[in-house]
Amino acid sequence: MSSRKAGKPAVKTAVKTAAKPAVKPAAKAGAKALQKKPIDLKSQEKPEPKPASAPARVKRPNGAVKVGVVGCAGRMGQMLLKMLINAPGIVVVGGTERRGSVALGQDLGALAGADPLGISVGDDPSMLFETSDVVVDFTNPTATVQHAQMAARTGCGLVIGTTGFDNDQLNSLLRAAQRAPIVVAANMSLGINLLQQVVEEIARILDPDWDIEIVEMHHRAKIDAPSGTALALGEAAARGRGQSLRRISRRSRDGQVGPRVKGEIGFAALRGGDVVGDHTVIFAADGERVEITHRASSREIFARGAVKSVLWAAGKKPGLYSMRDVLGFSVQAPQASTTTS
Ligand code: NAD
Repeated sequence: MSSRKAGKPAVKTAVKTAAKPAVKPAAKAGAKALQKKPIDLKSQEKPEPKPASAPARVKRPNGAVKVGVVGCAGRMGQMLLKMLINAPGIVVVGGTERRGSVALGQDLGALAGADPLGISVGDDPSMLFETSDVVVDFTNPTATVQHAQMAARTGCGLVIGTTGFDNDQLNSLLRAAQRAPIVVAANMSLGINLLQQVVEEIARILDPDWDIEIVEMHHRAKIDAPSGTALALGEAAARGRGQSLRRISRRSRDGQVGPRVKGEIGFAALRGGDVVGDHTVIFAADGERVEITHRASSREIFARGAVKSVLWAAGKKPGLYSMRDVLGFSVQAPQASTTTS
C-alpha cells in the first residue's frame, strides 16, 4: 500500500477542533448493554497513556484529516471512498482489502469511480493505522475487532459502521476505546438516529398494553439478522420503557409459539433484492396502531454520516462514542448502540 506524504495534505481546509460532546461518551452506558461480561468502566475515565511508540496526532488548525478506509472495495467502502475523496478537510491516505481480494493493487480513485489517486489498495492495515488520523471500517466483526486493536496500539481514531458483533467482540471494542477514540454506529444516517429518539420517546409515553414490533428488510447479501439498526431501535424502545432489550426481545417466531407475551419487543427480518434498508417500528394497541418507517434508498446517507463522524473523531480523547455524540443529540440516558450491529 502506498500512501501520500502525511505532512502534505492534498486538500487545505480548516479542520475545526471538535468541541466537547454534548452528551457523555457512550462507553459508560455501553457496559449496561453488556451485562454478561461487565467491564470496569472506571478505567475508561482515566484512560491509559498512549504507548510511547504512538505517533503524535495533534491536529494543526489548517491541516486536513488523514483518513484510511479498510474494506475499501465493499459496497460501503466504495461509496465512502467516493465521498471522502471529495470531502473538504479530508485527505485519503490509503485503503485496504482482505487478502486475496481482486481489488488489491487497484487505484483507490479508480475504485471509487473518480480520477486516479496514485494510491493502490493494500492488505496491510497496521501501516494504514500508522499513517492515518482516522480509519473508517465497514467490513465484518472479526476484521473490525483486529482493526480496533490496531487503533488502540497506535491511538488512531476509528469509525466503525460494521454490524453483527457478539458480546465478546463488543467487549474488545470497549477495551480498545480506552486507548483510542472509537465511534460505533449500526446506522449512520441522520434519519435513523432521529427515529431512535422518537421511538424512545413514544415508548416512554405509551403504556405496556401497546405491543412493539420491529420489521426490517435488506438486500439478499446481508449476512446478519435482525439488522443492527433494528436492534438499535429495539434498544431505544426498551430504554423508553425502562427495560433491558436483552430481557424482553423476541427475535423470531415459528410454529406453535402461543399468544404474544405482554411487554416483549418482537423482530422480523425480510431479505431480498437490492433493498438498502427499510425499518418500521409498530406500536399496536386494541383498535389503533402507530407505525413509523424509515426507508434508505441510497448508501450515501450512511457514507455522509461516516464522513461526519471522521471529522468529529479526529483529535478526540479515547472513548467509545455513538452517532448521538457525533450529531450532538441531547439525551437523558445515553447508551451505546453497540449491541447492534
Ligand atoms: P460488503 O461485503 O460489500 O463489504 C465488506 C468489505 O470488507 C468487502 O470488500 C470485504 O472484502 C472487506 N473485508 C473483509 N475482511 C477484511 C479485512 N480483514 N480487511 C480489509 N477488508 C476486509 O459489505 P457492506 O454492504 O459494505 O457492509 C459492510 C458492513 O457495514 C456490514 O456489517 C453492514 O451491515 C454494515 N453497514 C453499516 C451501515 C451503517 O450505517 N453503520 C450501513 C451499511 C452497512
